[in-house]
Amino acid sequence: MSMTPMIEASDLSKTYFSRHGLLGRQTAVHAVDGVSLAVAPGTTLGIVGESGSGKSTTGRLLLGLEPPSAGQVRFDGAPMPALETTEWRKYRARMQLVFQDPLAALDRRLTIGAQIGEPLAIHAIGSEAERRERVATLLQAVGLRRDQAASYPHELSGGQRQRVVIARAIASDPQLLVCDEPVSALDVSIQAQVVNLLRDLQETRGITMVFISHDLKVVRNMSDRVAVMYLGRIVEEASSDEIFRAPQHPYTRALVSSVPVPGTALKDRIVLQGEPPNPAARPAGCAFHPRCAVAVARCREETPTLQVVASGHEAACHLVSGDPLAGIANLGSAAAPVGAAFTQTSASP
Ligand code: SF4
Repeated sequence: MSMTPMIEASDLSKTYFSRHGLLGRQTAVHAVDGVSLAVAPGTTLGIVGESGSGKSTTGRLLLGLEPPSAGQVRFDGAPMPALETTEWRKYRARMQLVFQDPLAALDRRLTIGAQIGEPLAIHAIGSEAERRERVATLLQAVGLRRDQAASYPHELSGGQRQRVVIARAIASDPQLLVCDEPVSALDVSIQAQVVNLLRDLQETRGITMVFISHDLKVVRNMSDRVAVMYLGRIVEEASSDEIFRAPQHPYTRALVSSVPVPGTALKDRIVLQGEPPNPAARPAGCAFHPRCAVAVARCREETPTLQVVASGHEAACHLVSGDPLAGIANLGSAAAPVGAAFTQTSASP
């Protein structure tokens, strides 16, 4: 396997400015703030976080759909070209985005065959007959029938429409697929089918994936590695197994505690208190401190940076150290909490 990451971000930031109030005061919203990550070819990085964590903006920056305010994205070892340039369009055929809402992603006036074939036509791949055959093959690859090429989006179920979106995304044989909440608009029964489809496609085609979701349970099923985002920053990153086995950051611990394990009762669940974060009003110090049950005075003033806590495992918290067990012990014994308390509950599934 090549050592060059398929996609790599270095110190990536995105700031939006909005005006509000009678005087139209300008407010800076740091949607993404110093994100660095690398995804090895053929693997999946899951990005998880609440609404406002910056995970979707990160996905768009990785694809070059928005220019970063600072930092750099490298695709297959080369810097991402500027948006809308000829070079960027060439890259776009090699990386695709799967949206959350398949109905919004599809044109209701066009047959699904025409829409799946669109990227092939845009990039002049094959003759018309070859493109028709390729569309039929793609429909079969995502579990639909060849004759459904003549259907319109409204004639399909939500799960089938998302399969069409995936077929269109893989039509140009991309090396990178960024999936932004690809199953959150689907029924739970259909979610597993679409997740399995994405996993199968990744295995058979060796596609590198960035899988963005607020749902850690779905991310776990898809990902080799997981990055947890909070208010525009990565607060923890590790292999999927490690995130679930030994979460270090208090926010990750709360997320992990809410994921049911089949066959066992959901106990010691940590319920996050307080409002979801407002990216326009980032708390000083550690942005998580108003909701953190183990915050100490230092947390209000000093922003923690990502530290290696174990091989391939980083977390940004003042109370974690290089020894994962010591980190957990520190969190458990922290005195004088200043944040709103977690609520620990024992619950049945
Ligand atoms: Fe942030 Fe402090 Fe809580 Fe760690 S202990 S997550 S640094 S508030």
